[in-house]
Amino acid sequence: MQKGYLGVDIGSISTKGVIIDENNKIIAEKYLWTEGDPINAVKNVVNSLKEQVKDKNIKVRAVGTTGSARKLIGTILNAQVIKNEITAHAIGTLSIYPDVRTIFEIGGQDSKIILIEDGIVVDYAMNTLCAAGTGSFLSSQAKRLGLQVEQFGEFALQSKNPTKIAARCTVFAESDLVHKAQIGHKKEDIIAGLCKAVVTNYLNNVGKGKKIKSPIVFQGGVSKNIGVIKAFEDETGEKIYVDKYAHLMGALGVAMLAKNSGKEQNFDFDIAEMHFETRGVECAKCANNCEIICIYKNDHLVDAWGNKCDNGAVV
Ligand code: SF4
Repeated sequence: MQKGYLGVDIGSISTKGVIIDENNKIIAEKYLWTEGDPINAVKNVVNSLKEQVKDKNIKVRAVGTTGSARKLIGTILNAQVIKNEITAHAIGTLSIYPDVRTIFEIGGQDSKIILIEDGIVVDYAMNTLCAAGTGSFLSSQAKRLGLQVEQFGEFALQSKNPTKIAARCTVFAESDLVHKAQIGHKKEDIIAGLCKAVVTNYLNNVGKGKKIKSPIVFQGGVSKNIGVIKAFEDETGEKIYVDKYAHLMGALGVAMLAKNSGKEQNFDFDIAEMHFETRGVECAKCANNCEIICIYKNDHLVDAWGNKCDNGAVV
C-alpha cells in the first residue's frame, strides 16, 4: 500500500484538489468552480479524487487545506494542516522551480506577488480590492466581446497593434473598451490591449515597489492565458515560466505541508455531514461595506470570509 497526501485549495471562484505520493508527484487532480458553495465544491473535488485513485492502492494519510475557506474545509476534512495561500503557493512552486525568485499569481478574484530568496519567502503582497487585474475581469470582458475567456490568448497573439485600454479600475476599463470597439479597433487589438492592461495594473498595484527578480513563475487561473504571459514578458523583459500545474500550486504546496507535518492518520474520503450555520455581518469600517460571511458550528465560529482587506477580518 502506497501513502498519499491530500491538498485542497479553496477560493471564492475555484476549488482545487490534488493527491500526491511520497515523492510529491501529483497522482490525482481536480479543478472546479466553487459557485458560492464551498462545502459542496469540496465534496465534489474529494469524490473525484477518490474515483481517480480507487484502483491505485493508495491510502491517504494526511490532509492539508489552504485558500479563503481553508478553516471551514479543514474542519470538514479533519485536516492536519491549515495554511495561508502565500506559504502554500511558495512551497508548491519551490518543489518544481527551486531557484524561483518571484511568483506572480492572478486568480479569479485576487492577485498576489511573492518574493523569494534562497528558498524563503521574504516579501509578498495581495490585492483583493481592485478587480481590474483578475480572472473575473477578463471573463466578463470576454463575454462583452462575444468570446470565451479561453479564446483570449490566441486572439491577443494575432494583434500587431494592441489598443491602449485604461484599466485603472473595472468601470473605466469597461467604458473604454466599449468606446474603442465603437470607433473600430480590431477585436484582437482590443484583447491584446486588455491583456496588457491586466499586466500593467498588476505591476502598478500588487507589484508596486517590489524588486522583481528572475526566475519568475506565473500561476493562478489567468496564467493559462498566453496573451497575459506575453504581456508580462514584454513588460518585464524576462522569461515567464508557467507550469502545467500552475492552477494547482496552492493545493500541491499544502499537500506537501500535510505530508511533512508528521501527523498521519487515515483519511477515508467519507466527508462528515456536519451542520453549519451561516450568518452575514456587514463591515462598517469603510464605504465598501463588505458582507462578511461567518460560519458557525455549535455556536462556535469556524471560519469567515468576504472581507476585502485585513481591517475587516473576523478574529
Ligand atoms: S473589509 Fe471592511 S474595511 Fe476592509 S474593504 Fe471591506 S468594508 Fe472596508
